Amino acid sequence: MKITKLTTYRVPPRWMLLKIETDEGVVGWGEPVIEGKARTVEAAVHEYSQYLIGQDPRNINDLWQVMYRGGFYRGGAILMSAMAGIDQALWDIKGKALGVPVYELLGGCVRDKMKTYSWVGGDRPSDVIEGIRTLRAAGFDTFKMNGTEELGFIDSAKAIDAAVARIAEIRGAFGNDIEFGIDFHGRVAAPMAKVLMKELEPYRPLFIEEPVLAEQAEYYPRLAESTSIPIAAGERMYSRFEFKNVFHAGGLSIVQPDLSHAGGITECLKIAAMAEAYDIALAPHCPLGPVALAACLHVDFVSYNAVLQEQSMGIHYNKGAEVLDYVTNKEDFRIENGYIKPLPKPGLGVVIDEQRVIEASRNAPDWANPLWRHADGSVAEW
Ligand SMILES: [Mg+2]
Repeated sequence: MKITKLTTYRVPPRWMLLKIETDEGVVGWGEPVIEGKARTVEAAVHEYSQYLIGQDPRNINDLWQVMYRGGFYRGGAILMSAMAGIDQALWDIKGKALGVPVYELLGGCVRDKMKTYSWVGGDRPSDVIEGIRTLRAAGFDTFKMNGTEELGFIDSAKAIDAAVARIAEIRGAFGNDIEFGIDFHGRVAAPMAKVLMKELEPYRPLFIEEPVLAEQAEYYPRLAESTSIPIAAGERMYSRFEFKNVFHAGGLSIVQPDLSHAGGITECLKIAAMAEAYDIALAPHCPLGPVALAACLHVDFVSYNAVLQEQSMGIHYNKGAEVLDYVTNKEDFRIENGYIKPLPKPGLGVVIDEQRVIEASRNAPDWANPLWRHADGSVAEW
């Protein structure tokens, strides 16, 4: 079998789908993207295609190593995301060629169903509480929400109180009937992270995500020592070579590699296995589309330490398209009481509605995250 063609489709809300074709008619889909830099990742995918065309798509391990090691420069958000989507499509092809789901190729499932959680948008407590009520009716009992809006290096008691009051109100409204993680989103610098985490401790969140930015990961062990709240991070780390330093330094309780950013299934399986050896739970990051979600699920179902799967059905970022809009086998993605079952179809288990993808890719707008500024005019982390 030989790879004959790579086609990319940038689609709303902020995703990109990759179709890899072969001379035997088997087609694989991947989702290589960095949100806000889709065109850059697209260029990287097509640079890799110069080597990939004519190769046997079933040699995933070798193709991965060629993409990673064969170009001298490596790693980082763009290249690892391009590789991630290509890797997903190669696994899709291999599974389809052999007639089995990817988790079967990986040794079979360690669980019958996977726990998912849902994002809740809104910055006012009343909006969040309303959002949780709606999602509970759909069966979810686990949620994630942002912890704060922009926060200064050293911010006021008023700002801290507002962030804490919001969480207190949510816990007050639902008691222990729900669980929630709080995403600091890299908005909080180390001096305030320590203060905010201490104040949030009584409300017992499941975890604090990115309490500080990935480039300040040396704070994770120090923050972990000062709080009982588990620390989660990893969506802005791109290979096992980055994760190894974080695992070794300690402090992380939950690791969140993104299957579309950290080298794909091939690399994230290794990251998951490294995490298991450190007693760190796995909760793959996934605010993306259906192929990325499927790739996460294949890793979850074969990884003992997988505890939670993020998914973006109904997420407040998705303007213009929903996760299942591009999929025809929507029933396979049904979430019951917050759990999803292994996708039963061969390969990644996603049947892409290609006409819809082509249609949506015509004049797809370029998504960019909002640019925030502090009161003094300086740039704030979003
Ligand atoms: Mg996050």
